[in-house]
Amino acid sequence: MALAEETKRITAQFDYTDDDVNKGVKEFLRQMSEGLERDGTSLSQIPTYVTGVPNGTEKGLYLAVDLGGTNFRVCSIHLNGDTTFNLTYSKVAIPKELMVAKQASDLFSFLAKQIELFLRKHHEDHFEAHIRRRQTVSTPEGYRDEQIFRLGFTFSFPVQQYGINKGTLMRWTKGFDIPDAVGKDVCALLQQEIDRLRLPVKVAALVNDTVGTLMARSYTSPGKTSTLLGAIFGTGTNGAYVEKVSNIKKPIEGDYDKSTGLMVINTEWGSFDNQMNILPNTSYDIELDQKSVNPGIQMFEKRVSGMFLGEIVRLVIVDMLKNPKISLFRDDNSSQNDWKSTTTIAPESGLFKQWGLDSSLMSIAAADNTPDYSSIRQELEKQLQIYAASLEDALAFKDVAYAVGRRAARLSAVALGAIVLQSGKLNDKTDEPIDIGVDGSLVEHYPFFRNMIYEALAAIEGIGPEGAKRIRIGIAKDGSGVGAALIALVAANMEKKGVVDYLNYIKTSVVEKFTNAIAETDEPTTIV
Ligand code: ADP
Ligand code: MG
Repeated sequence: MALAEETKRITAQFDYTDDDVNKGVKEFLRQMSEGLERDGTSLSQIPTYVTGVPNGTEKGLYLAVDLGGTNFRVCSIHLNGDTTFNLTYSKVAIPKELMVAKQASDLFSFLAKQIELFLRKHHEDHFEAHIRRRQTVSTPEGYRDEQIFRLGFTFSFPVQQYGINKGTLMRWTKGFDIPDAVGKDVCALLQQEIDRLRLPVKVAALVNDTVGTLMARSYTSPGKTSTLLGAIFGTGTNGAYVEKVSNIKKPIEGDYDKSTGLMVINTEWGSFDNQMNILPNTSYDIELDQKSVNPGIQMFEKRVSGMFLGEIVRLVIVDMLKNPKISLFRDDNSSQNDWKSTTTIAPESGLFKQWGLDSSLMSIAAADNTPDYSSIRQELEKQLQIYAASLEDALAFKDVAYAVGRRAARLSAVALGAIVLQSGKLNDKTDEPIDIGVDGSLVEHYPFFRNMIYEALAAIEGIGPEGAKRIRIGIAKDGSGVGAALIALVAANMEKKGVVDYLNYIKTSVVEKFTNAIAETDEPTTIV
């Protein structure tokens, strides 16, 4: 029983009470306002300038790429001219060495190469024709506009955006570290590599994945309600929401349409409370942070998102292995093991390597409620080479993973709840849902992640169980890719026409059209 008791003692450190949630929400609201007042705060609250208008020529092929923290996705959206789309996706894992490459071009040339492969595979006919045309002129500018594929670039790192296809990288997150790229325009970096391959592609729009998710969800969310917030819980975590311009006290440089009084704000909430006023801080969190490439930064993200949760669990398990008083994954007495075999951990197990435990294992642990935890034990063997774990071992692992996952979900509720409160929508005299679009493998695959979020939302003062019922959190699957393609389309038309407010455009004519279009694709884009 020593193991069970010790597990209880350790998992208690990950409790995040209703009281903690409420303190978190107050601090989140405070840091939100601070970020709306000035630059250089922990919540960056970056104004996004996504404005544009369709000119009615909804024909042609648009590309969207999405550089997340783990995967690079290339997607094409074909506008058939009769209000329907066809979508095609491909996905490749980003090689680890490129995340910490010396030169920005090492990473961006890889991305350009993936675009080329995608075009060759899925759009061979168009591709060849375009290539031929492009070879007839010497400069990228030298050939006609309509011969180029417009591309929406979803770039899920903090960027200071200063145009629809211009933005400089503020800092890397999620384990990336290529100092050469910091301060540079990421669209230009991608365009350079595209041009080097002589691809007929123009990077037309820069989109944060949260903004893309917000846009895509706005098109597809059921009913007339427009979406308040787009949030990512994947490798990293972040959110973008619709803010009243009157609440944005810091200067918004450049031109934007003022008619709606609204603007999408990219919070960059991964860095919420870097100053550690309220975030929980176990010895495991401290160790993870110290050994990360960016100590002291992205402190919220390091407690919430996919890249980090597995690592926290790993650090806990490694600590438990060192404790001579308990017997975890060890059988001093093999008769105690219900499988009657010797438990061993291979020396090369991921358990002994930083980032060696993937968060997906936590999902498997949470989902397995069989009497003998057979999937957990199988996966421990498959993923971590832990052979013949006992029932007690599996239970201890499940409990640790659950504690870390639950704390993450409740912290997520702090961010979502604060933004719902900030919007004032709960005071509306209506029972319209408050719509939130979410994307990312963690929220999509971790069992009951959304339920745990709802439970914490109901505990927030000013929301309560009634308010929580009005909040509708829906998955916008691959929303960031879809959103980017839509914004690329808008950007192309913006080049020709004057600037018209983008949000307004979503809310009116285009909504129905896109809703139908997206529903007709092979892949389900939205699951409510
Ligand atoms: P990206 O962040 O590149 O857009 P994803 O949204 O797919 O990509 O998120 C990848 C992250 O999600 C990784 O950190 C991975 O460990 C985690 N992850 C993948 N599958 C699962 C799962 N089933 N349960 C929990 N986390 C997962
Ligand atoms: Mg993503």
